[in-house]
Amino acid sequence: MFLRESLARLFACLFLLVPVLGSGILAQSTGNKAVATASAIQDDPDFARAVKEWTTRPEFISPLVDHLPKAAGIPSPKDILGHHIGEPKKLTYYADILKYYRALAAATPRVKVVTIGKSNEGRDLVVVFVGGDESIGNLENYRGYLAQLADPRTVTDAQAKDVIDKAKPIYHLSGGLHSGEVGPSEMLMELAYRLATEDSSLIKQIRDTVIVSITPVADPDGRDRNVDWYYKYGINETEGRTTGAGVPYWGKYVFHDDNRDINYSQVEMRALLDWYLQWHPPIMHDLHQAQTLLYTFSGQAPQNPNLDPILYGELPAMANFEMSQMTKYGMPGVWTHGFVDMWSPGYLAFMSSNHNGMIRMYEIQGFSGANTQKIRLGNPNGTGANGVGGPAPAGGGRGAGAPADAAAAVAGRGSQATRDWFRPLPATGEFDWSIRNNTNYGETGVLTALQYTSQFPKIILENFYVKSRNSVETGRKETVAGYVIPAGQRDMTRVERLINLLRLQGIEIGRASAEVKLTEGTFPAGSFIVKRDQPYSRLAKTLLEKQVYPDPTLRTYDDTSWTMGLMSHAEVKEIADKKILDLAVEPIKTAEIHLAGALSGSGSTIAVAHTGSNNMITLRYRLKDLTIQAAEKEFKQGDVTFPAGSFVINGDAARVRTEVEKLGLTAVALPSAPQVPLHALDLPRLAIYSIWGNTQEIGWVRYALDRFEVPYELIFKERVKKGDLRGSYDLILLPNQGGSGKRLVFDIENRGQPIAYKKSDQFKNLGMYGESDDITGGMGLDGVAEFEKFVKSGGVLVTLGTASYFPAEFGLAPKVDAARTSAQFYAPGPIVNAEILKPEHPIFYGYDKKMVPVRYANGPLLSVQTGVNPFADGPPPPGPPPTPQSVLMRYPGGDDQVLSGLMRGAAEIRNRAAIVDEPSGKGRVILFAGNPCYRWQNFGEFNMLFNTVLNFNDIKSEPAKPATTDTPAR
Ligand SMILES: [Zn+2]
Repeated sequence: MFLRESLARLFACLFLLVPVLGSGILAQSTGNKAVATASAIQDDPDFARAVKEWTTRPEFISPLVDHLPKAAGIPSPKDILGHHIGEPKKLTYYADILKYYRALAAATPRVKVVTIGKSNEGRDLVVVFVGGDESIGNLENYRGYLAQLADPRTVTDAQAKDVIDKAKPIYHLSGGLHSGEVGPSEMLMELAYRLATEDSSLIKQIRDTVIVSITPVADPDGRDRNVDWYYKYGINETEGRTTGAGVPYWGKYVFHDDNRDINYSQVEMRALLDWYLQWHPPIMHDLHQAQTLLYTFSGQAPQNPNLDPILYGELPAMANFEMSQMTKYGMPGVWTHGFVDMWSPGYLAFMSSNHNGMIRMYEIQGFSGANTQKIRLGNPNGTGANGVGGPAPAGGGRGAGAPADAAAAVAGRGSQATRDWFRPLPATGEFDWSIRNNTNYGETGVLTALQYTSQFPKIILENFYVKSRNSVETGRKETVAGYVIPAGQRDMTRVERLINLLRLQGIEIGRASAEVKLTEGTFPAGSFIVKRDQPYSRLAKTLLEKQVYPDPTLRTYDDTSWTMGLMSHAEVKEIADKKILDLAVEPIKTAEIHLAGALSGSGSTIAVAHTGSNNMITLRYRLKDLTIQAAEKEFKQGDVTFPAGSFVINGDAARVRTEVEKLGLTAVALPSAPQVPLHALDLPRLAIYSIWGNTQEIGWVRYALDRFEVPYELIFKERVKKGDLRGSYDLILLPNQGGSGKRLVFDIENRGQPIAYKKSDQFKNLGMYGESDDITGGMGLDGVAEFEKFVKSGGVLVTLGTASYFPAEFGLAPKVDAARTSAQFYAPGPIVNAEILKPEHPIFYGYDKKMVPVRYANGPLLSVQTGVNPFADGPPPPGPPPTPQSVLMRYPGGDDQVLSGLMRGAAEIRNRAAIVDEPSGKGRVILFAGNPCYRWQNFGEFNMLFNTVLNFNDIKSEPAKPATTDTPAR
């Protein structure tokens, strides 16, 4: 309190002494009124009164945001929404947010709204530009300048200097990526209005020198669902009386993983990337909510070493400026270090750093709704979410089971109230926190970041140019000069996808016009060449190289590896030979390539080679009315080899040709049916089971099946409890979920009242993708019994990742045990070797290697009892135990089997089962310890799942061996 009053006096005092300051809030705090002239804009007294009331402590506001102009003819948020930003118990639906920005744009030439796409559920995706009249009137010019700086090959250094003189940085702000983090999307409306209307010297300076662009809500579908949930449940919650349940869905497919969508699969993320590559904002700043009271990202270790060293100077410079400014205003709890690192390039705003710009991130204290709640700091006995020892945020916060964010928040618990070199003025004690506090912190932070940018606009632009130039130059100088992705690989459809994912991010790729001879080998004409003397050479290396984790003692916030060749099971050759830079190539000019498939020969029986293309399943479903069989053994026709699993199709050659060509497959019309055993590829009645408490991993599987055109029914406990699963389904898939068998079975705790997830006239966004009268309680033991009946009566149950604890722990696969790794084990998404033990099993159709790279998913350590009676007398038989017949794939384990990223304690997984196929009654349970369908990333593993679907009723158990084989007489 004292500090704050002193500061206010200091500001007033300085203003009198120095009436005209070049910039800044010194003039602004008291200056607005002091310099008011007859024509100047007056502040809105109603705003100041309301904001003072809603701010729970005087130190939780700054002189930057304690006032708001009332500009005639220009609507303030209250004029459109009916209330000031930050009113307790008020959240804004997306349509109203858009309505506000559009009204603002209609009223002032300083604001422009452009539509950049549609969300999954059809909402407009927009970017809002705010700047001076001149900036917004000449946006295309400014876009052109940044494009020139982004590709330094188009300008000389001298020309770049001229461009920098004329250019202005675009500073991009994004809110609402995580739907439960509601505050920033409210705040940004006030910010836009303030930037467009306020006449303080600080705001004028920002307006003149910086162009601000805004993503109001990065996931608008999730926003509306979360706002519905808040008004239905959260608004009535009080401390000690919460539902304990979050809304089951944010976006159509994922929750917070929209910030880990490294391949931009989701349309909302893709639209922003496309926009980014047209506009090149040097800074992308994501506004999140998690930490006490404002954490500003400084790019701490482990750091991606491919990125320009300049960036690692810029990041802490800006963060420290914000921390020192906000500390100066007396705002406690602003800090810069000890939370998120700079390793994974998959965060949304990383699109900027990946393209020579700068990712920035805040975590601002807040809740998933707009209730004022108590926060308790410095209480070591406290429990609760958000790492503050307070009550769980209304509505379960970021969705039940938000693993990465929640874990990190917990790690920070307690420590956030302590002073440290990166937290000079911690928040302490117990206090109420309101959504207006969240607005005050977020807006003050952002205005401070814009102040910094407006003080150094030319430095920001120069750095952007130099980082881009360095990217081209280091590509010429560094050891890795480029990459060859050879033509003629066994399955070119996964190569095509890999190329297109690189192209999506603006990476330049050419096709070799002739055979290529380099030190590393000879590659056929048509091979894909990625040269490193290009502006996005750093990104190409980051995505294609093996990740060498710099320090195994450091933890990281997300995955440690993402190597695209390994993830895709495609060959990508790293090239040191500098000759690659001078190779003649045909540049790929289109956004995407398509490698057409071919059907040759004539005849009524058509064979389609299964060489591991994920498109095989799409072909099967597109031709679902045709009879299609799978060859159980390899055969040849002419010079084409058809591996086991290849399709044999009768009828409608014209349709087959069309689809084979579209899907990039290789087919030959045969004179007669091949002389190998065949089985019919029947299509299963496929269900995906989902708990209500954690739907995201299921969402990724749904997304993949949707993209590959595989129909399925999404079922929940409601369907399971009805019984007779076998009457409706042949295969039930349980994607990674729950974390344990118990969690999967009992799911969300019931706290005494049913929690419905249903659509109504008032809440139109609920009840999507499934509905329930009560999402709590889980399927329970009755549900387990139904799953058991399903399997025993001939159903196939497939479990992925942590869902594989369920059949092991609840006896659906009685011989399978599921253990856990030790506390020392640490494996944040490395890629490791897995060994295929039963190459003839249909799950491995299309795979031709014994050892395959897989992403390690931290599922159970599976083992299968071998028939040795553990209760028998006498010593166990000598030698290693036999590998049970039902283990199809295993992890060899050990450090030398880690191909990319970090696995600490790699010996713990040695010889553990990776896939188990366990017969049970008339059916079977297939357990994957890993996750063969992870975040639209590990395309090389997808086929293990797809093959399981296509061959669900053709998996034959080997005849059980006499007990004496496995159990020597003792
Ligand atoms: Zn977030």
